[in-house]
Amino acid sequence: MTRDKLTPSELERYSRQIMIEGIGEEGQRKLASATVGVMGQGGLGSPATVYLAAAGVGKLILVDYQSPDLSNLNRQIMHWENDVRSGRSKVDSSAWKAREMNSEIEILPRNVKVTEENIGEVFGEADVILDCLDDFSPRYMLNEFCVREKKPFVHAAVEGFHGQMMTVVPGQTPCLRCLFPEPPPKKPKFPIIGVTAGVFGVLEAAEAVKLITGVGKTLSSKLLIGDLLYQHWDAIEICRADACTVCKHL
Ligand SMILES: [Zn+2]
Repeated sequence: MTRDKLTPSELERYSRQIMIEGIGEEGQRKLASATVGVMGQGGLGSPATVYLAAAGVGKLILVDYQSPDLSNLNRQIMHWENDVRSGRSKVDSSAWKAREMNSEIEILPRNVKVTEENIGEVFGEADVILDCLDDFSPRYMLNEFCVREKKPFVHAAVEGFHGQMMTVVPGQTPCLRCLFPEPPPKKPKFPIIGVTAGVFGVLEAAEAVKLITGVGKTLSSKLLIGDLLYQHWDAIEICRADACTVCKHL
């Protein structure tokens, strides 16, 4: 349910985005009433969480099961040297910073490996979920859950200087499996520079803001591909696959 009032502090804090046509106080109340799940607190999840917290999304469910190591720090900007030394979990590290950033929103850290069994419990209350993962197997699980539960979600994947993303609105747009029926070969380690994860993570947060407020147009039925090295960007129209094993249940 959308909150019917913003506090004086919220009105001041978010005044510059309330000025945006299509957001206004109503859009801000929608943000304050929304719950966004961020699956993965790494390179994509870090910037996504920062901007969702800054935008005043009322509740953030932060999910990861790992602790940061030194080789994560070039891109996973929520985690700092002290977090590596202390060995605390990524979700605790992110939750602490997000709370310091914005004490007016609720942060729910969930230090769990998401499985078919617990995914409903982890993301049940989310209105929108961001795929901030680096592996296709949990992505497919998230895709199936979101299509089944009719929850919009935003997919992004990055490598090196390039990335891709799409927004899935179950029942209206193609799902991840429509586009990628088989997972790409899994690499134990892939190259990545922080700026790429930063750009795509922030774009995922922008999609969430649009899905919640209804402002603008999301990347639904479109795959955005971007190459930061040569600044080649393209948005390709995509459509549902008749043979999709996930969409056939809709
Ligand atoms: Zn599908």
